[in-house]
Amino acid sequence: MGAAVETHCPYCSLQCGMRLEGRRVPEVSAWEEFPVNRGALCRKGWSAAGLYGGRDRLTSPLVRDRETGEWSAVSWDDALDRVAAGFRAARADRGPDGVAVFGGGGLTNEKAYSLGKLARAALGTSQIDYNGRWCMSSAASAGIRAFGLDRGLPFPLADVEEADVLVLVGSNLAETMPPAARHLDRLRERGGRVVVVDPRRTPTADRADLTLQPVPGTDLALALGVLHLLVAGGAVEEDYLAARTTGWPEVRESVAAWWPERVERVTGIEAHELRAFAAMLAGSPRVMVLTARGAEQHSTGSDTVLAWINVALALGMVGKRGAGYGCLTGQGNGQGGREHGQKADQLPGYRRIDDPAARAHVAGVWGVDPDTLPGPGRSAYELLDALGTPGGPSALLVMGSNIVVSAPRATHVTERLESLDLLVVCDVVMSETAALADVVLPVTQWAEETGTMTNLEGRVVLRQRAITPPPGVRSDLDVIAGLASRLSSVPFSTDPEEVFAELGRASAGGPADYSAITYDRIRDEGGVFWGGERLFAESFAHPDGRARMYAVEHRGAAEQPCADYPVHLTTGRVLAQYQSGAQTRRVRSLPDDGPFIEVHPLLAARLGVDSGDPLRVSTRRGTMSAPARVVPTIRPDTVFVPFHWVGANRLTNDALDPASRMPEFKVCAARLARVEEVAQRPSPDPVARA
Ligand code: SF4
Repeated sequence: MGAAVETHCPYCSLQCGMRLEGRRVPEVSAWEEFPVNRGALCRKGWSAAGLYGGRDRLTSPLVRDRETGEWSAVSWDDALDRVAAGFRAARADRGPDGVAVFGGGGLTNEKAYSLGKLARAALGTSQIDYNGRWCMSSAASAGIRAFGLDRGLPFPLADVEEADVLVLVGSNLAETMPPAARHLDRLRERGGRVVVVDPRRTPTADRADLTLQPVPGTDLALALGVLHLLVAGGAVEEDYLAARTTGWPEVRESVAAWWPERVERVTGIEAHELRAFAAMLAGSPRVMVLTARGAEQHSTGSDTVLAWINVALALGMVGKRGAGYGCLTGQGNGQGGREHGQKADQLPGYRRIDDPAARAHVAGVWGVDPDTLPGPGRSAYELLDALGTPGGPSALLVMGSNIVVSAPRATHVTERLESLDLLVVCDVVMSETAALADVVLPVTQWAEETGTMTNLEGRVVLRQRAITPPPGVRSDLDVIAGLASRLSSVPFSTDPEEVFAELGRASAGGPADYSAITYDRIRDEGGVFWGGERLFAESFAHPDGRARMYAVEHRGAAEQPCADYPVHLTTGRVLAQYQSGAQTRRVRSLPDDGPFIEVHPLLAARLGVDSGDPLRVSTRRGTMSAPARVVPTIRPDTVFVPFHWVGANRLTNDALDPASRMPEFKVCAARLARVEEVAQRPSPDPVARA
């Protein structure tokens, strides 16, 4: 392995192309020909080689003595035998659903597919879901309802440059995926305009022509108000709506009462700003609306996305080049991870698990009786909430997720993990979740293995093995096959290309059909879009070819500020860290200053704090302390905490969206107090930095 290998970044859904060279610790260089990023990377991508060479890499299976808490290294056979015996005991005690499986939106398509197959065909459990439920599920749910299909972006990201007005709702593109921000620059060089909707004025707003900072949890009301003005101004494309949609009369009626002054009272956006926004949209031939976690991670997230889709449809934009609606997926394989069977209600190819034809097709590929496949299971948070309870699973396999940091209401979830009879975690290091496990299985990561990812555009790309893994670790595919062989007679391949071919057969004919995609095609074509490069130009994926419009109502956040908890708390990311930080917190060249509590100067003055002073934030679920960061760019009634460290999700609300089952990560009620000191990080990090 001497020559440079063309592959992709280990982190976000942009899946930037890069070249890697070197045997043990790879060197990153630009891959200019890859169309998505043209050689550009953010600092996380450039420093990704820092994932290697750390002293805390796990290289042997470990088992924990519950009495003493001591860890012991065991052989792989011993570890897998123990896990299989524990799963058998849970099944004997509680039936097939006594064992649960929790996956991740960073797993390759091959792993996500095999994990779903392990759950349904080998374990026979319905109890499988993944952390992608917490990332894009509200947009996915809305996309399926409105368009009949969920593909985050139904067009290449570069189409952004062709828009005349780009509306970013709850996206901090400039910090979360910097190479994508160049499209905003080109759009503006062409004379296009950018609107950013976000309670915080983030670096993305530096590229905006209009910045709207609504009260957290009111994006839906903002969309209703915009549509009200578009109707009032005669800017709606009636011919398009008549020809390509259903439901418009009800939607038009539903926005009639959302006049600007009412929207101002709910959202805090002044009526004249709303009018300026609507006027910008009304006069533009190509309007593109993109939502992200800021709009979606709410108990009203699905309806919020539907409301913005209504705006795009009413303007006649969906299906038009350089216009339309899309969701900016977050996790590296958030798109593929939700297409191939990790989700509680889905089989490979984005098929529904309660569809008899889908069950028969997939069971045929797996060589099992369709009647043996379980039905839909619990969604991610509901699954975790049920662990160890009388009707819930007593054993859990975790792959590709650091639940202790990333789950909402994390203290409660940690207690549920501790109540299990058996917790098994596959990871590369002793993450916060692995530290609670009974068995930890050390697995390969990123450049040590080959597999496909599906980026935010629906482009299937190939991450190729570039370096040799350390002795003692095995791939997740090996772990899955090793467990399956101990628990069933269903065959599982450990070769990624073979697994991908099987995934293709299982997905054939489904909404997300990968059957025509091969590793060779991906290499030759620089990635392959499933379903085609651009969708919806002629028709939508519903049987009648029309998009569905839904009249949705503003409900607001599940938890509103009150006398005890008077401010809004919102959470999000910072440039140098990614998700739970399990990877990026170990990269020495990325700054890790720990969490902070961002407050407006007016709020800081009331509390008597300056930047750096210790501050405590509390909600009905928990508390954390961290240094204050006083900035004028946040609303005075809102505080922000990044979620890459233990602490933020002790605060967050587990209220769920009724359609997507997405928890309300983005807003809850909180109170602040000045404290004497932040004695330590919110909890001891069990992870020694490399
Ligand atoms: Fe990696 Fe995302 Fe940064 Fe690209 S934008 S280098 S995929 S983290």
